[in-house]
Amino acid sequence: MNLFEMATVQFNKAADMIKLDPMVRTVLSEPQNEIIVNFPVMMDNGSYRLLKGYRIQHNNTMGPYKGGIRYHESVNLAEVKALAAWMTWKSALMQIPFGGAKGGVTLNPREMSTSELRRVTRRFTYALGNNIGPEYDIPAPDVGTGSREMVWMMDTYMTMFNASDRNATRRVVTGKSVLNGGSLGRDKATGQGVVFCLDVWAKHLGFEIKGLTFFVQGYGNVGSFAARIMQSRGAKLLSACDHTGAIGDAGQIDADDLAAYVAQTGGVKGYPRAKEISLPAFYGTKADVFIPAALECTVNVETEGYIKAKYVIEGANGPTTVDAEKRLLDRGIVVIPDILANSGGVTVSYFEWVQNKNSATWDLETVDDELGRMMRRASTAVIEEMTERKCDPRTAAMALALMRVEEAYKERGIFP
Ligand code: NAD
Repeated sequence: MNLFEMATVQFNKAADMIKLDPMVRTVLSEPQNEIIVNFPVMMDNGSYRLLKGYRIQHNNTMGPYKGGIRYHESVNLAEVKALAAWMTWKSALMQIPFGGAKGGVTLNPREMSTSELRRVTRRFTYALGNNIGPEYDIPAPDVGTGSREMVWMMDTYMTMFNASDRNATRRVVTGKSVLNGGSLGRDKATGQGVVFCLDVWAKHLGFEIKGLTFFVQGYGNVGSFAARIMQSRGAKLLSACDHTGAIGDAGQIDADDLAAYVAQTGGVKGYPRAKEISLPAFYGTKADVFIPAALECTVNVETEGYIKAKYVIEGANGPTTVDAEKRLLDRGIVVIPDILANSGGVTVSYFEWVQNKNSATWDLETVDDELGRMMRRASTAVIEEMTERKCDPRTAAMALALMRVEEAYKERGIFP
């Protein structure tokens, strides 16, 4: 099953449950636009590479297309389509006036110099042309990209369009540096959202974050901030893994110290204050909470059996396969789904877009307060839906999102 087929299984399950209108179901079964560009970039040694870039615009019924840009060697059409669909559901679930999109370029950013990545980003932005825009389709960071790439995209877009009114277009991307129009709190937003979300579930299920033990897969933007914020709330990090390896077996790991080490070395491998452990040992960490925050399908039928955690909260998009999720649920493990748990990123991206539009800057307290309010509202709604329908958390979250998009379609009808 490819990733889009997996997203479709999740969609169909919720659509069946709510008896989604057949017209809406047909319309939502594929993305609205699938843009593929092949663009040349000069490497530092003077040679040229032809790179493949994607922008999938899944749906814009609820507002402009919105979603991240991924740089990874395994980026492919089915993956980007799935990620774009999840963005539509995420925005609808969070009641953010955006639709869903996703993009990416198939490359390994670790094999490229800064100047090569800058040329890739600028040329990809140029190739996308007016397929993106501040009121039309608004990219953001994802795996392998960050504020640096977003500022390059913004600058390229500003140079290409609206020369006389350049600042009006800076909201063409979100996740920018604060200096270049980004929002305070955007860097930690997804990790912060994971913890705000877990707070609501903790209250519902009768536990507290303080004193919990947890482990994290992926120590990039989402994983490292989630770990550090969990630790600041009194939880203990017991193990971590990323593309370089897995570490643990050392009691509590200092999440801040590990983040500083990863920033310096590029990965968790060799961290001196923990031991290297195998992947089965990592998945089998005896902890309360598992936060997958790397790539998709890491929790699958091969790894699921090792997991002893009571709660899985999905920082990543699509980390749990359909079969693995079924087994986890059968074992009584609570799986808090991606479209809810990691929606802090798109939520603060929305705040950034609003600030840019109004030439405003919010302080961090305002950003955190608003994010907390929106995460609590959505998490509470998912728990209520799940309880009422006696379904699993993902199907409840998908159902809420689908019902909103369905309602919007029914009011508007289909052109002509
Ligand atoms: P990132 O590039 O900052 O970090 C990715 C992490 O995954 C790195 O630590 C990397 O080493 C690790 N990784 C890569 N391959 C791995 C492997 N085979 N095994 C274990 N670890 C591996 O990316 P990010 O922004 O933190 O995104 C992580 C996940 O969260 C993705 O699924 C992304 O779509 C999702 N997400 C990100 C945001 C955001 O705001 N950045 C928002 C919502 C969801």
